[in-house]
Amino acid sequence: MADLAPPTTGRWELWGLPPRAVTVVLAVEAAAVAFVVAGGAVPSSGDVGLAAFLTVLSVVHTELATGIERIRRRAAQTSYFDLSSVWTFAAALLLPPMLAAAVIAAVYLHLWHRVWRPAKVPLHRHIYTTATVVLAAGAAHAVVQQSGGLPTGAADASGVAGIALAVLLYVLVNTVLVAAVIVLTSERPGFRDLVGGWDDNTVEIATICLGALAAVALGSTPGLVALVLPPILVLHRAVLVRQLEEVASTDAKTGLLNAAAWQVQGTRTVRRVHRSRGTAAVLILDLDHFKAVNDSYGHLVGDDVLAAVAAELRSAVREQDIVGRFGGEEFVVLLPDLPPGPAGDTEMRAVAERLRQRVACMAVAVDTPDGVLTIGGLSVSVGGAAVPIDGTTLEQVLNAADASLYIAKRDGRNLVRFAAPVEIPTPRSGT
Ligand code: GH3
Ligand code: MG
Ligand code: MG
Repeated sequence: MADLAPPTTGRWELWGLPPRAVTVVLAVEAAAVAFVVAGGAVPSSGDVGLAAFLTVLSVVHTELATGIERIRRRAAQTSYFDLSSVWTFAAALLLPPMLAAAVIAAVYLHLWHRVWRPAKVPLHRHIYTTATVVLAAGAAHAVVQQSGGLPTGAADASGVAGIALAVLLYVLVNTVLVAAVIVLTSERPGFRDLVGGWDDNTVEIATICLGALAAVALGSTPGLVALVLPPILVLHRAVLVRQLEEVASTDAKTGLLNAAAWQVQGTRTVRRVHRSRGTAAVLILDLDHFKAVNDSYGHLVGDDVLAAVAAELRSAVREQDIVGRFGGEEFVVLLPDLPPGPAGDTEMRAVAERLRQRVACMAVAVDTPDGVLTIGGLSVSVGGAAVPIDGTTLEQVLNAADASLYIAKRDGRNLVRFAAPVEIPTPRSGT
């Protein structure tokens, strides 16, 4: 299970959150406590033994995985997966809610001690994640009970359906509760910010499926649960590979796509747009007289300004627009799937003008040894070109946009220029 946000976000001191978010966090935590207290029957000694066994398995798993996770954390400061759902989900299916909650609390306490506290995640955030897992486990347990418990024989279709439904509910409850807080604490979060990427979710679902198999094994032949450990360690490797891919395609200074990754995504997108006879635009943006910023304030301040410009550009376009750092103080934006005809033309010009104005209005606060420095007076020149009118491959449109950028610079900077529409000669009648 990934925690709510990268540890580096730093916006998560509970009382610093908007009041509505604090209310949701406290309500979810109260609901988790109430749920556990309400289900408080005295557990059997067999169940207590099973709970202890699952906790030990989780501790062993975390300790074995810590080496892999250490490499992963060094490689990327983004999302983190501990894959503890394999044990918390098995506990949800096998144990009464109160004992399952005890396993979850023990597993999360250990993770806090070994992983999250060293990663400087605020405690209240970890507690919220624990509460969402308790509620998700409760939902999964209820649905399996409704369908008659874990499968008991080859023909127990309802037991199998119950497990499948429990997997879905477990993911759904967690995702919705985490997304609720993100909605209340972030400005305009994208869909991906709310529900996570496809790869993250497939890893999470694979982990929970292993948890289901672990539960069935523990219910019949407990020794077989050892077979879950090797695949779960391989899943950690899968997470590592995905994180490395992400690092390899990201520009470290700005967090945008680097030039190579932008070209790969851009080429694929332009090909798709062209195939479907759609419209797209490419904008190249080059900061004006950026050398003067470096000369006046130094390269480190220049770097901070570049990162701020990157964030401004990213926030000023749609989620599906592809934004990259092309190199130095040059950025590229691909706007796919614009409306056809004049509306698309108007939109790409409006976006380019909006980006120019947003940069012109920026006041970047930069920490320096002499205190906070506010840097304004920035400007950017923008060159644009469109698919299919200026070209049908990324390379052609980039060349046209680059020529437009040159004209924007030549005409005085802080300007937007687009490639002149290509005159397509009308065929003469009779030929
Ligand atoms: P113009 O584009 O308006 O013609 O002028 P400019 O000064 O922006 O253009 P030029 O191409 O002459 O210089 C680009 C400058 O961008 C030079 C370099 O100091 C700065 N630059 C490029 N990459 C980085 C970087 O990663 N960090 C910092 N701080 N500066 C960078
Ligand atoms: Mg330049
Ligand atoms: Mg420049």
